[in-house]
Amino acid sequence: MTGIKPKHWDHEADVLVIGSGAAGSSAALSAFDKGARVIMLEKRNRYGGTTEKSGGVFWIPNNSFLRAGGVKDARVDAIRYMARLAYPTLYNPEDSNFGLDKNQYELIATYYDQAAVAIENLQKMGALDPTPWIAWDGQFMPDYFAHFEENKVPRGRALVPKDPRTGKGVVGGVELIRQLRTAVEARGIPVFLRHRAHRLITNESGQVVGVEALNEKSEAVYFRAGRAVIFGSGGFTHNPEMRLNYLRGPVYGGCAVPTNQGDLISMASEVGAKLDNLAHAWWAQVVLEEVLANPSPPTGVFFVPGDSMIEVNKYGQRVMDEKAVYNERTQVHFVWDPLKGEYPNLFLFMIYDERAARIGGIGPLGTRYPIPSTGEQNPYVIKGGNLEELTTALEARLNKLVSRTGNFHLDQSFLSNLKKTISRFNEYASKGVDEEFHRGEVPIDLAYNGPRAEGNDRPNITMYPISAEGPYYAIILAGGTLDTKGGPKINPRAQILNRDDEPIPGLYGAGNCIASPAGQAYWAGGGTIGPALTFGYIAAINAVLEPEKTE
Ligand SMILES: Cc1cc2nc3c(=O)[nH]c(=O)nc-3n(C[C@H](O)[C@H](O)[C@H](O)COP(=O)(O)OP(=O)(O)OC[C@H]3O[C@@H](n4cnc5c(N)ncnc54)[C@H](O)[C@@H]3O)c2cc1C
Repeated sequence: MTGIKPKHWDHEADVLVIGSGAAGSSAALSAFDKGARVIMLEKRNRYGGTTEKSGGVFWIPNNSFLRAGGVKDARVDAIRYMARLAYPTLYNPEDSNFGLDKNQYELIATYYDQAAVAIENLQKMGALDPTPWIAWDGQFMPDYFAHFEENKVPRGRALVPKDPRTGKGVVGGVELIRQLRTAVEARGIPVFLRHRAHRLITNESGQVVGVEALNEKSEAVYFRAGRAVIFGSGGFTHNPEMRLNYLRGPVYGGCAVPTNQGDLISMASEVGAKLDNLAHAWWAQVVLEEVLANPSPPTGVFFVPGDSMIEVNKYGQRVMDEKAVYNERTQVHFVWDPLKGEYPNLFLFMIYDERAARIGGIGPLGTRYPIPSTGEQNPYVIKGGNLEELTTALEARLNKLVSRTGNFHLDQSFLSNLKKTISRFNEYASKGVDEEFHRGEVPIDLAYNGPRAEGNDRPNITMYPISAEGPYYAIILAGGTLDTKGGPKINPRAQILNRDDEPIPGLYGAGNCIASPAGQAYWAGGGTIGPALTFGYIAAINAVLEPEKTE
């Protein structure tokens, strides 16, 4: 043994699985299915991880529903779409690997090859009952870049769990986890809650043979893994040091479960793992005051509700299509102004009128968050009788937050620019064409906007002129994450690699704890849980084939 040498093993299994979200559950069930003795460790007091908080959507190329419907989701086309978004600066349409290096390309190709296999395997085991995700307009939910010419199957890859009570698909991580957890329990796979994997235990040959975990009393408990340890321990959203130093933009928190603190990064670094993709995350805007009060808020701002609504920066200017996808919108917060030496979009202000406050517009998840439900009030909503009052109230609120915002204030031009911005937006809304940011022009804008709001008679359902009369409302939005997606680099067998790109024997990973096969991309709704379930499965089928390790 190297490092720590336990005097005894408290528990023994063939395969140890760390974490109980999508990646961990898929790995545990798939390893059990192949005959392995499996033990799961979970740091929280509750099964399910961020996956349970999620929408439970999983994006599966060439899935059985597409095939049954006669839709050909061709391998080369799907890989091209994924490669183009995963590594936009490497992408070369003329190259046989689309400009990606061998490992990057093979991870994406393996995802295409194995995603449907993994889901069908869970389905066969009775552990998951999937069905296509249908949007409010009755169509299959579109991919986030359905409008790309590289995307030959723009709809139908996103799946959701079927609710057994209604027989219908449900957007809900609670149901996804219920199905997976029920299958884990039915197989009698032991799950040690409140057990945090703390250090890897390796033998003289550098093979990983177990884990030292800390229980709720911080006592060390030793778990032996005869064949392998598979990590599905989530990202590092709740490790402020890693967040500040690794992520490519300023973020104020995220809605992953609080236990996702990048533990694998520290553990795997000790055994020589190579780290990759650390700068990227599954981005989502967050309500600043909510995230300052609770670093792990219930949810992020997935879509921005309301048609008579805009987002502006400290100069009172719109900076993007407000109906764009959360992952893409959030990255606009990271723009740096080289002369002013500032992030002009560090915070964006969601501005809306009484009409939007009242009807909001219900998105595909049946919510109008962050606009409070009718009749409800929320302290993070700032109100003004007119735009002058709103600006004063907003500046007063920012003043209270200066110690946590890098002394952020509105620019003096905010109010006059805001008035001009609103009058320009109102022209676009009347015409139905957003000449600056093309709001509502791509399928996903419409899918996430939801149906036409009451009283909107304009040509583009995502826009309606903002009222000339107050009151007006503002919510301060900041950059955040659903969770991060960088960590140890894996190969297409989900083995964690060392600095020479050789597998560290006995060590596997899937989901947000490792460098995502998706690179910087968020291909579609379900683009995070899809790879987590798939690479959890891939890790398991390879882990069970590992030779039995000696101590
Ligand atoms: C509100 C919301 C909605 C979302 N909707 C979707 C969606 O519909 N589709 C989609 O694809 N993605 C969605 N996401 C993102 C998605 O939830 C995550 O990317 C995904 O669930 C990650 O799965 P995972 O298995 O990698 O990690 P998790 O589900 O986060 O599981 C990791 C687990 O590991 C545990 N853990 C951490 N460290 C240790 C340790 N040292 N020892 C033991 N256990 C440890 C954690 O406690 C946690 O339970 C959403 C996220 C949020 C917050």
